[in-house]
Amino acid sequence: MKDLAIILGIRPDVIRASKILNILEKQNQISYDFIWSGQHYSENMKDTFFNQLNVKKPDFEFTVEKVSDASVVSSTIENLYSHFEQHKYKAAVFLGDTNTVMGCIAAAQHNIPIVHIEGCMRSYDWRMPEEKYRTVIDHLSDRIYAYLENYKIQGINEGISENIIKVTGNPIVDIINENIEYFGSGSDYLDDNILDAIKEKFVLVTCHRRENIQNEKSLKNIINLLNKIEDHNVIFPMGYKTQQILNETNLTLNENIKVIEPIGYLEFMYLLQNSQYVATDSGTVVEEACILGIPSIQMRYSTERPEVYDVKASIKFDPTLENEAVDKILDRVSNMINSSWDNPFGDGNSSEIIVRDLIQLCEENSFSRHKPSDYSFDISNSFKG
Ligand code: UDP
Repeated sequence: MKDLAIILGIRPDVIRASKILNILEKQNQISYDFIWSGQHYSENMKDTFFNQLNVKKPDFEFTVEKVSDASVVSSTIENLYSHFEQHKYKAAVFLGDTNTVMGCIAAAQHNIPIVHIEGCMRSYDWRMPEEKYRTVIDHLSDRIYAYLENYKIQGINEGISENIIKVTGNPIVDIINENIEYFGSGSDYLDDNILDAIKEKFVLVTCHRRENIQNEKSLKNIINLLNKIEDHNVIFPMGYKTQQILNETNLTLNENIKVIEPIGYLEFMYLLQNSQYVATDSGTVVEEACILGIPSIQMRYSTERPEVYDVKASIKFDPTLENEAVDKILDRVSNMINSSWDNPFGDGNSSEIIVRDLIQLCEENSFSRHKPSDYSFDISNSFKG
């Protein structure tokens, strides 16, 4: 029996968990298996990140049915369920709010305690499957790592016991601190035409969220915003789903917008660091920009990371609105270019804190919350004889 199963499945999981995995690899107090769900599978959405961040390859790699979100979730549950029949663990660790985290149902079926990294974040936007996934896994979890005190309060407000929630800071700060000296080398991997395009001031763009690209009006509003950025070149590493959907529409991007395939972490962070600002709907990119002091336009109706607005690092563009004041938004973000703000996401020790806690819980074998004291409300009636 190994102590932990760490289950990840998409590009930002590898990035955010890279230091946790690297610390676990170096210690010898507990054992673990790193399991890849197969949700992301291509070289440039997966292996590039293992290589650039020196993360060991997964011990087990599954493939999933990619017909729909339902098939990705159901094959992840199937794969993990069979795996847990053969391999026993003290706990199964998941991160975030993706189809992969729904694999926690398999751990629940085997009564393996569940650990959730990135717990208790909420957008309070019930249109988002991610919001539903986060809520499900938090309520099944025996241990939750919440990045910020506010997130912990959100969990407690839902009746989750404060005893199982530990505030850790956001591990993305750790990853930036660890790797910032290598971001410069990202330019070595970029094509000449991109290097040419970024000789002048430029803007970086990413856009991949379902609620944006699968909604015709929102996508049109986003393209309209991007086409209004006329004073700079725009570099747009575009995910495959966005490419596919955009090709099926008659929407066109201006000539100054260079669409490229998804790129590696070092290249992306090199571009981000050197951009005037970023327009994005990514959860992680908006944090990275905030930490690096790069202004962002957050192309989202709702966010689970309101801190970027609180510290005035980001401007909201609501893709659901036809009449967003695009010119005003572009003016406002341009005015932020030389501003600075505090990093609200922590001090860079979060991976250490998470691993230390995991080691302690493994050594004590005390993951399970099946104790009356672990509920935040009175459950004594349930135990009456
Ligand atoms: N990223 C990257 N290459 C790209 C686009 C993004 O390495 O072409 C990185 C980026 O630095 C961030 C993460 O991927 O760490 C964001 O992933 P994504 O936007 O897909 O996911 P989200 O954060 O919204 O879950």
